[in-house]
Amino acid sequence: MNQHEDRQQGFPAQQQQPPGLTDQMRPRPDHGEESYRGSGKLTGRRALITGGDSGIGRAVAIAFAREGADVAIGCLPAEQEDAEQTASWVRRAGREAVILPGDLVDAETCTRLVEDTVSALGGLDIVVNNAGFHLTRDGAGTLEGLDPEVVDRVLRTNIWATLWVIRAALPHLERGSVIINTSSIQAYQPAGVLLDYAATKAAINSITVNLAEHLGPRGIRVNAVAPGPIWTPLQPATRGPEEIAEFGSGTPLGRAGQPAEVAPAFVFLASQSTASYVSGSIVGVTGGKGTL
Ligand code: NAD
Ligand code: MG
Repeated sequence: MNQHEDRQQGFPAQQQQPPGLTDQMRPRPDHGEESYRGSGKLTGRRALITGGDSGIGRAVAIAFAREGADVAIGCLPAEQEDAEQTASWVRRAGREAVILPGDLVDAETCTRLVEDTVSALGGLDIVVNNAGFHLTRDGAGTLEGLDPEVVDRVLRTNIWATLWVIRAALPHLERGSVIINTSSIQAYQPAGVLLDYAATKAAINSITVNLAEHLGPRGIRVNAVAPGPIWTPLQPATRGPEEIAEFGSGTPLGRAGQPAEVAPAFVFLASQSTASYVSGSIVGVTGGKGTL
């Protein structure tokens, strides 16, 4: 049994406003700070992680740094505090960290994020499209509750930013480079209360397999990770307290996952030593929910 399996189901009622901050969460998520051990799987690689300040992105940043990668952390300006904490873990691993705030709903900001990463790290080998947004509070993700402005933000953040970041990154990616997108169990088992978000994650799956075909001949691998319910700031920032109380309890493993339990899937896909022949795959980390 690892330290997560005996954790009680559900979470104390709590709410934040988007984008949500780590230090306000009870309990604090586990990003692998005390547990992740690297073994040189990404030595000398340079990674951009959008939404790298918190949650899954922070756990990926810590794991990548301990595997030997330098990391650029994309985040919203309101998340500087979270981004500083992530950067400090990366630096403690002896790697370079740079924080690049900006709202990725804007295509130009996506391009600038990539250009600033290349300038700061001297190149780019691994692109992790992890920034994502949804809103379920007060029925906001049901057909009746959809608000055009919110849907626009969800689509721009989840789908379009993924495309604009990849498009800007492409001229910098050499053979052996890797793109990892972030899908969701919602692409496979849509919950009804996340109508717009689930559609964006299905679109990300399509983009992933499509680009794997397109970029394979250039030696660039494209994959995605599809998490199930994971304890991150996105949840208390966008769901109602009654949803939080039960969060993750509907999975076969009976609990939500921690960001630290998702990051190894990103490491696997990022590393040429473990995944040199893996492209066009979507790896589920779902607590037992099917991804067929
Ligand atoms: P999180 O809130 O810690 O991270 C999401 C990040 O997205 C934020 O930190 C923020 O920096 C970034 N972001 C959001 N809107 C942005 C914008 N317009 N411009 C720039 N950055 C923006 O939450 P998380 O759960 O770690 O989310 C990471 C990814 O995992 C998301 O794509 C999410 O859809 C996906 N995911 C999460 C879960 C889960 O249960 N937590 C499940 C499946 C998929
Ligand atoms: Mg955040």
